[in-house]
Amino acid sequence: QQPWNRGYATEKKIGGFGGQKQANGKYLVSLIEGDGIGPEISQSIKDIYAAADVPIEWEPVDVNPILKDGKTAIPDAAIESIKRNLVALKGPLATPIGKGHVSLNLTLRRTFNLFANVRPCKSIAGYKTPYDGVDTVLIRENTEGEYSGIEHHVVDGVVQSIKLITRAASERVLRYAFQYAESIGKKKVRVVHKATIMKQSDGLFLDLGLELSKQFPNIQFDSELLDNTCLNIVTDPTPYNDKVLVMPNLYGDILSDMCAGLIGGLGLTPSGNIGDECSIFEAVHGSAPDIQGKALANPTALLFSSIMMLQHMGLNEHAAKIQKAAFDTLAQGKYLTGDLGGKAKTHEYAGAIIDNL
Ligand code: NAD
Repeated sequence: QQPWNRGYATEKKIGGFGGQKQANGKYLVSLIEGDGIGPEISQSIKDIYAAADVPIEWEPVDVNPILKDGKTAIPDAAIESIKRNLVALKGPLATPIGKGHVSLNLTLRRTFNLFANVRPCKSIAGYKTPYDGVDTVLIRENTEGEYSGIEHHVVDGVVQSIKLITRAASERVLRYAFQYAESIGKKKVRVVHKATIMKQSDGLFLDLGLELSKQFPNIQFDSELLDNTCLNIVTDPTPYNDKVLVMPNLYGDILSDMCAGLIGGLGLTPSGNIGDECSIFEAVHGSAPDIQGKALANPTALLFSSIMMLQHMGLNEHAAKIQKAAFDTLAQGKYLTGDLGGKAKTHEYAGAIIDNL
């Protein structure tokens, strides 16, 4: 299987890293179980990892927000754990809508400067979806754009929300996209944008892509308008298989969920939030409060995220072994969770993966 993730970050290559090996030969990894279905799907990962003898010890981390200088902050103990361990696996965290604390997901990304959100979108052999053979990767700028959190009332009834695009953050994620494409053998990098309308902000992002592409002569570079990408990829995803798509924050958020639909839904799509100091791997889906505590949750997306994490850490053999067992289980189709049309409970599906190890 092709690796989903490799350890490249900025100019200085920091590959094969992540995790501090302890005296007992195991790596300590921070585990944020998260809200809703988080603890249930985390338990599946722990069971599968124990059965597969992965040399990892989980360090549970509580990220319940605290207020620091009037702002939502992550408790110091959690920050220290993730900084020390360099990698974390994270379950979904619920965000209150409209009011309450700011998104903890955003706070984590900002706290650790996790500048690239990598979302592979790959069909699973044997699992029938509207499209076969989808194999593309979306990389989303993860720190600014429409998610910069700069919003204010100008006058009553008028709100301004600032889309922030900087050279520094754009260059960082674009460079990562080129490096990532090289590392997984994709031939092309495509910037997805709306520079026709947002001429200056998306225009800067696009120009920087072109500028950086000169440093990567083995990778072909081009660009596409977001609306065209949406239409084209749902019409026929095949032309995207040789590409890594890179884009500003909001576009990546939306387009990657659409691409998740191409391969069977949110229950199957993993992601990695990559930074220079540390990286956090998480499923694309949320806390699914509607099915919480019913053993209906599909742990595959979190499991696949953890496989990205293992590849990031250079534990490729363990990654391949678990990936194969999961793919086999999905292709056999006997123990699928409800979202995939089956009747299996979360732990029954995890048990089938363990049997396939
Ligand atoms: P959601 O992804 O939690 O759920 C959407 C639908 O998909 C629901 O019907 C749910 O049951 C189903 N679903 C999701 N994951 C599933 C799984 N593993 N197995 C089976 N079915 C699954 O989206 P939402 O309902 O919009 O959000 C719920 C909460 O999660 C909100 O508070 C939101 O802010 C938060 N959220 C967190 C993250 C994150 O932590 N990265 C991402 C998205 C949403």
